Amino acid sequence: MNLKELWQTVLGEVELTISKASFITWFKSTKIHSKKNGIITVSAPNGFTKEWLENKYNKLIFKILRNNSPDIKEIQFVIGDEKKSVDTTNKTVPKIMPSNIGDQLNFQEFNFNKETNLNPKYTFDNFVVGSFNELAQAASRAIVDHMGTMYNPLFIYGGVGLGKTHLIQAIGNELFKKHPTKKIKYLSAEKYTSELIDAIQKKGMDSFKNKCNKIDALIIDDIQFIAGKEKTQEEFFHMFNSLYQQNKQIIISSDKPPKSISTLEERLRSRFEGGMIADISYPDLETRTAILKNKIEEKKINISDDVVNYIASNIQNNIRELEGALNRVMAFAQINKTTPNIKTVPQILSQIINAPKKKTNYKNIFKTVADFYDIHINDLIDKSRKKELVHPRQITMYLIREELNSSYPYIGEKLGGRDHTTVMYACQKIRKEIVDNELFQQEINLIKERIYN
Ligand code: ADP
Ligand code: MG
Repeated sequence: MNLKELWQTVLGEVELTISKASFITWFKSTKIHSKKNGIITVSAPNGFTKEWLENKYNKLIFKILRNNSPDIKEIQFVIGDEKKSVDTTNKTVPKIMPSNIGDQLNFQEFNFNKETNLNPKYTFDNFVVGSFNELAQAASRAIVDHMGTMYNPLFIYGGVGLGKTHLIQAIGNELFKKHPTKKIKYLSAEKYTSELIDAIQKKGMDSFKNKCNKIDALIIDDIQFIAGKEKTQEEFFHMFNSLYQQNKQIIISSDKPPKSISTLEERLRSRFEGGMIADISYPDLETRTAILKNKIEEKKINISDDVVNYIASNIQNNIRELEGALNRVMAFAQINKTTPNIKTVPQILSQIINAPKKKTNYKNIFKTVADFYDIHINDLIDKSRKKELVHPRQITMYLIREELNSSYPYIGEKLGGRDHTTVMYACQKIRKEIVDNELFQQEINLIKERIYN
């Protein structure tokens, strides 16, 4: 594979992994320059994009590059056309790899409303409700009937692929249908940030603020992205207040509850907590089956119950994977002009289902916990007794014990030479907290999920 093809493959896979908006914002104008001694050089159009690629996407890009070319050791990002580059954007469609063929089919269904940014495919009608998401769904429905007056803001949180984006977009689509003259706007927090930065750079803040102020219902997806970004939070806070005071509806999604977004400014946290907070957890077998049946009906395809049952029983992580599996089965059947049956399906899905149980190590647990709470890895080792550091530290001890079965003295040593009794105490405390507090249990599940992804 030459350099150009390599980068096309990376772009193709990244596009499947992140949102369309993020892809366009951060990847559209990237180019590959060279590969020398295992170092790949990639250019970004400006310093801001370069920083984002380095900080947020480096790992993802690296993983994909390595899968395709195992000799790659490092990626270097540069700004602009410092060297002659190979243009890979806007050319042929990225190559479809057999392993992601299903996702690719799924991904092509978008048809955005330019005014609202909403994707009309997300509706309440095709949103299956079970005990894992019923509170969030009910609150969302209520908002449609009481825009701006009942729950404000509505804050929905949950793990990856569990329906947050679907649900908040369904609210938007329904509001748009009901109030066609009102301004409904959906933005990912990343897109909001990039528009804000654009406005600052082009000295267009007044018009940006004006535009924001005219919104009647603002939907912000994945708000955790603005954590730690002071300037963005400040602007967001002002916009939030201004809309809130005018009784405009605000809907927010996040991968964790407000109290766990540690570098969220206090004043924003208290605003978020001032409205309605609803979580989405994990669907049970019955709901997973219902979701599959729903999709099958929607797509008017023919798949037998035993196949549905096989998929629902074996794909348990999240709804996105469930859909991915169904799409893969359909794609295979289409290409081979066969009907999926219980003999072929396990084979088609074996790559996903029998993936070896992922392993982890203490360093990865350190990193995941630190990332989750937006603190530095050193904070886990340090002696500081600050509450916001002590708790993540105890969680780290607990997770190393649970996931790696390490001894208490070993864990103490890795966490800055602490005594084994300290570790024992921490593990007991966290275990108890998990039993006593369902929200905390979910928080731990979110962290575990990240450890293995
Ligand atoms: P999140 O934003 O939480 O990561 P998404 O909203 O993107 O998850 O959901 C992932 C996929 O699963 C989407 O294609 C969505 O339509 C589908 N999905 C999620 N929840 C449901 C549900 N309750 N019923 C039907 N489909 C769902
Ligand atoms: Mg989402």
